[in-house]
Amino acid sequence: MARYKESVCKQCRREGMKLFLKGSRCLSPKCAMERRPYAPGDHGRQGQFRRQVSDYGQQLREKQRLRRIYGVLEQQFRRYYELAEKMRGQTGANLLVILERRLDNVVYRLGLAESRAQARQLVTHGHIDLNGRRTDAGSALVSPGDVIAVRERSRGNTYFAEVREVLEHQTVPAWLTLNVQELSAVVNALPSRDAIDLPVNEQLIVEYYSR
Ligand code: SF4
Repeated sequence: MARYKESVCKQCRREGMKLFLKGSRCLSPKCAMERRPYAPGDHGRQGQFRRQVSDYGQQLREKQRLRRIYGVLEQQFRRYYELAEKMRGQTGANLLVILERRLDNVVYRLGLAESRAQARQLVTHGHIDLNGRRTDAGSALVSPGDVIAVRERSRGNTYFAEVREVLEHQTVPAWLTLNVQELSAVVNALPSRDAIDLPVNEQLIVEYYSR
């Protein structure tokens, strides 16, 4: 499976904002956006004073930002866009809902992992069941009524024992219901656009692909 190999912090620096790709490190002083809040590369520092960004530049950055938040590669992201176009309703909102439905995102939203990357790792390492069956595809899309659960034999390990304690004090999005003791969850419904709290303007992404 192809994947992004550079430092993920560079992605935040490129986008000029925290994308929260590394869990607790993102909230610490070690965060690269705290120490070097400018674009990577030789011209990064000068770039922060550049004012003019073309319409195309804005659309591209918005698309890249969303793609990086979910850790999706270009080809896959375009496929999601094409799927969103075919669906009823607004393409931009549809795109966000599709991304939210990814299994790795759901594992992250449930608080079973600190970041989407870690959530994907939990899935690929076989710790997560979808509807009672082990799945190793973080890209699997969940639907209403689906049950996501930590595999029975993984529940007792140290990692999930600690996660369970943290989850006692956390809430999950309204479109999911979490059973902390069982480390399982049900998808109540698909999220609405308003339930997806991300700093992106999806209309710019629609404009990017409509050029
Ligand atoms: Fe981004 Fe987190 Fe790295 Fe900070 S620590 S730059 S928020 S990935």
